[in-house]
Amino acid sequence: MQKGTISVQTENIFPIIKKFLYSDHEIFLRELVSNAVDATNKLQVLAQRGEVKGEIGDTTIQVIVEPDEKRIIVRDRGIGMTEEEVLKYLNQIAFSSAAEFLEKYEDSGIIGHFGLGFYSAFMVADKVEVVSKSWTQKANAKAVKWTCEGSPEFSLEKVTKEDRGTDVILYINEENNAFLEKPRLENLLDKYCKFLPVPIQFGMRTEYETVGEGDDAKEEKREVPNIINDPHPIWKKAPTDLKDEDYQQFYRSLYPMAPEPMFWIHLNIDYPFNLTGVLYFPKLGNSIEVARNKIHLYCNQVFVTDDVRDIVPEWLLLLHGVIDSPDIPLNVSRSYLQSDTNVKKISEYIAKKVADKLNEQFKADRKVFEEKWRDLGVFVKYGMISDDKFQERAMNFALLENTDGEFSLINDYKEKIKANQTDKHNKVVGIYTQDPDEHNALIKAAKNRGYDVLKMNTPLDNHWMQHLEYRSDLGLLFVRIDSDTLDKLVQKDEEKTSVLDEKETEQVKVLFKSAVGEQSLAQVECSALAPDDLPVTITKPEFMRRMKEMQALHGMGMGELPESYNVVVNTNHPLIAEKLLKMKKKDEQSGLAKYLYDMALLQQGMLRGEALTSFVEKTLSRL
Ligand code: ADP
Repeated sequence: MQKGTISVQTENIFPIIKKFLYSDHEIFLRELVSNAVDATNKLQVLAQRGEVKGEIGDTTIQVIVEPDEKRIIVRDRGIGMTEEEVLKYLNQIAFSSAAEFLEKYEDSGIIGHFGLGFYSAFMVADKVEVVSKSWTQKANAKAVKWTCEGSPEFSLEKVTKEDRGTDVILYINEENNAFLEKPRLENLLDKYCKFLPVPIQFGMRTEYETVGEGDDAKEEKREVPNIINDPHPIWKKAPTDLKDEDYQQFYRSLYPMAPEPMFWIHLNIDYPFNLTGVLYFPKLGNSIEVARNKIHLYCNQVFVTDDVRDIVPEWLLLLHGVIDSPDIPLNVSRSYLQSDTNVKKISEYIAKKVADKLNEQFKADRKVFEEKWRDLGVFVKYGMISDDKFQERAMNFALLENTDGEFSLINDYKEKIKANQTDKHNKVVGIYTQDPDEHNALIKAAKNRGYDVLKMNTPLDNHWMQHLEYRSDLGLLFVRIDSDTLDKLVQKDEEKTSVLDEKETEQVKVLFKSAVGEQSLAQVECSALAPDDLPVTITKPEFMRRMKEMQALHGMGMGELPESYNVVVNTNHPLIAEKLLKMKKKDEQSGLAKYLYDMALLQQGMLRGEALTSFVEKTLSRL
């Protein structure tokens, strides 16, 4: 037997490894199984080149748990190691790289914690044995056994091992004995190893099969190897070899509870970086709650993390699925990631693919696209707000919907309304409602005037409209239908002349001021509108309303902004110009002013509770 001391500068490496990322101890399994996969892949390459003679046989990797012995064994039939290689790889290189790694990246923000490799075994084990036999050794040659008990001392001896390959045997310590529970281990295998490219067996499982027919039918039970992974996940296959059903089934396997996805993109690029994956567009409804942890990041089919913030821009986190790239640096802190050029290129690439896909769907079948707009809109709007390049591309498929359920591209819509809805500053004014039922009467009146009214009732619409307004090249402006009187929504230069003189106008104003009440914050405004426009209209100035909405959205605690609105009195309406002013008695005049004001409130749904009851009672008594 040979004894020696592992050559490291840092004597204290083991305590550090043990403490390292305490909560992530479970990654030891991923690291060891990945090593086994690497060793198997290497053997397959050698076999393909004809360097390994004869059959390589079954290369299934075995993960074995022996709770009584407190052991976990990871067994492969890969290239194995000679004594020299064990000394070289397990002692020097691995140790020094582990030390270097720990020194460099002690901060905890490291994605996936890659690079600790073999030595992560010491996070959970007091003693580790490696029994290995290289593919270069003769069948009857002795294998090598390396033992290390968690100190820089190791021992090396010759043992008998029939098969080529490596067994890594972990003697799990007291603190980590939860890993000896089968379900726990199976869970971890499912999490980290589900798509590794070599079959991995974890014990046996029972399969039931019905044999025979009719009365003779009986259920047969048999034990089959429990293969925990799918070595050929769909993202590694060619899109031409896949059917819709394959993508849907894969989606179900990832998110058993989620509704069917709308469509998906298959990512596949070699240059300037390597990336594969499948991203799905889920049904979002109106929700902009980013369902986190829905995109899984893999590195060569090894699961790394389901937290891909900093790799994928926020708005793309609405997508679900898998991305696999060896070109995302995993040994760096999150803050560094954002400035990494590959990561930048990757997120640009994904954003472009997403835009291409949406464009393609729009072109292929606009009707279907429109039907899906409820779900897609959230996504497209979020993207347009957050990403200028995407916004540019989205002009080809982003839709505006009007109150008749007609959809238009933004530029087409501008063309459509231009003639009627261009204001004195040459801006095209989009009129919208957030609630078609509430604004039913206003919408009808607007349509009579030849205006079109948009439906803007999803949570992102306010932001989105503002964003579109900022784009000066678009020359678009949005106003809510109740933000001003109909003839002022699209501001033109021409002034209508009032049939009342200044004194009469002032008289009307005073009457309505007292109808509104001194205490109220509402502003009374006399305006010379068309005689057939409403006599009194309540408007909520666009600016104030947006401020309030912003406040509500961001939950700003600077005190509620007061409810303010304008009471616009149409001095050209016969009820004002003739009836009201010709009334003899003062209280008759205030009665009519109050009645017209209440009617306007009623129309806006602003007359509630006692005020409403008293309004109805007064009306009844007049009948
Ligand atoms: P890494 O895998 O990142 O190189 P590790 O510390 O995990 O670092 O392993 C160090 C080296 O030990 C590997 O590069 C490989 O040469 C060798 N090794 C580890 N596990 C095995 C195995 N199961 N079969 C063959 N060689 C292995």
